Amino acid sequence: MRYPEPLLKLIRALSGLPGLGPKTAQKLALHLVFHPEAREGLKEALKEAEALSPCPVCGNLSLGGLCAICQDESRDRRLLCVVESVQDLYALERSGEYSGLYHVLGGTLNPLEGVGPKELNLEALFARLEGVEEVILATGMTVEGEATALYLAEELKKRGVRTSRLAYGLPMGGSLEYVDEVTLSRALEGRRPV
Ligand SMILES: [Zn+2]
Repeated sequence: MRYPEPLLKLIRALSGLPGLGPKTAQKLALHLVFHPEAREGLKEALKEAEALSPCPVCGNLSLGGLCAICQDESRDRRLLCVVESVQDLYALERSGEYSGLYHVLGGTLNPLEGVGPKELNLEALFARLEGVEEVILATGMTVEGEATALYLAEELKKRGVRTSRLAYGLPMGGSLEYVDEVTLSRALEGRRPV
């Protein structure tokens, strides 16, 4: 017996999402089919999520225009923390240790996957260095994250900006988003110049 077409379509759409294998996608799809209230909730949330867009300055999520962090006058504008993703930005925010601004790259340099400097949110970074005294390179402790930090350190040095890297002690090969708040705030405190 074949699944009805709409169910197949739903399973396909769900299994295309990050972290969802075919088994989980099937389970979710059947749950949604049998639970109208879950369907309604999801529909509403998806509709509202459409209002979110990247902040034109830093790449964080915003409800149109500048994000809440860029708008916050109490944040230290001399400090700029470069992260790979919005997830990493949220992880650092949860640590409560950091009061400067952010810049979201939207990935890491990865020549094998065709990601070069042009594919990352770099022009916008180089365009906002005025008044910035230190750029903290908070890309992940992966090969790509390290290579990206190294590249940025050189590019920023050319532009006369001091850079630092999060302290080691973060798990190698790991993404920031899975690191606990205490480790992250220690890594921020112990950052070293590059
Ligand atoms: Zn912003």
